Amino acid sequence: MAKARKELTKPFLVPEGKGFNLGKIDPDETLGFRSKEKAEDLLAEGVKRLTELQDKLYAQDHWALLLIFQAMDAAGKDSTIEHVMSGVNPQGCQVFSFKGPSAEELDHDFLWRTSRCLPERGRIGIFNRSYYEEVLVVRVHPAFLAKQKIPRKLVGKDIWKERFEDINAYERYLTRNGVAIRKFFLHVSKEEQKRRFLARLAEPDKNWKFSAADLGERDHWEAYMEAYEDMIQHTSTRHAPWLVVPADHKWFTRLVVAQAVIEALESLDLAYPVVSEEQQAELLACKKKLEAEK
Ligand code: ATP
Ligand code: MG
Repeated sequence: MAKARKELTKPFLVPEGKGFNLGKIDPDETLGFRSKEKAEDLLAEGVKRLTELQDKLYAQDHWALLLIFQAMDAAGKDSTIEHVMSGVNPQGCQVFSFKGPSAEELDHDFLWRTSRCLPERGRIGIFNRSYYEEVLVVRVHPAFLAKQKIPRKLVGKDIWKERFEDINAYERYLTRNGVAIRKFFLHVSKEEQKRRFLARLAEPDKNWKFSAADLGERDHWEAYMEAYEDMIQHTSTRHAPWLVVPADHKWFTRLVVAQAVIEALESLDLAYPVVSEEQQAELLACKKKLEAEK
């Protein structure tokens, strides 16, 4: 079984360098998995492995893991995070969602608000949307860029290229400080998004998830896909790679993301702290003292 899990990430991992084409990855892909049931067994196994690894990450307290999720609406970010992280200790995990920036946030550089939410050593930090919105929604809607208070002479035709460079440098800096990074684009098709929107409109329990603004963004689908493709091509690096995860089948998305998180943790030299001889002697003394109590 573990072998089957190992083959799940490679097709979706974007190598560093030019030439990435979003069209190469089919949102409907399931790599031959036909049924949800089989995938669920494998996911349960993955979640168990993740629990073990997170325990070590937390105990060792040296590395941090940052997981970034980006996607169009209804691609399943929330439910993927919920399922994949279902086995982890909440004390060792933090989730932050980033919406449109506040007035205070607009008064700072674009990496400021997310920097304040970076995971501490020993933790897994999840960004539900992130600074990548700065080269996505802000690129698709020039009005957002106009609202940012950047000195005008610094906003030129190379702004997106400059942001890619700054993000890459920032992520390299984080990696060199012990923050491992994995980035996920949940790749849903426009047809599947329509089905999910219609389901949200049809089922009263799902109505709350629907927002008319989401339809507005859907109208810009092509522009978003172009922005995603350019962003992934320029910011998938060896140290902080993007995975483009097919998202038309939620059970498959979860499986791939869980496996990628496992592989990220396995690539770190995680180990429980070793108790020194001196500490062992102290533990023994404590044991004796407890046993001697009346
Ligand atoms: P859900 O719909 O599941 O609650 P969501 O992440 O879509 O989750 P919303 O409140 O619907 O949350 O949307 C947040 C919106 O904020 C998105 O449209 C996103 O593009 C926008 N946003 C995030 N960061 C920025 C930014 N830096 N500048 C402008 N808009 C941003
Ligand atoms: Mg939304």
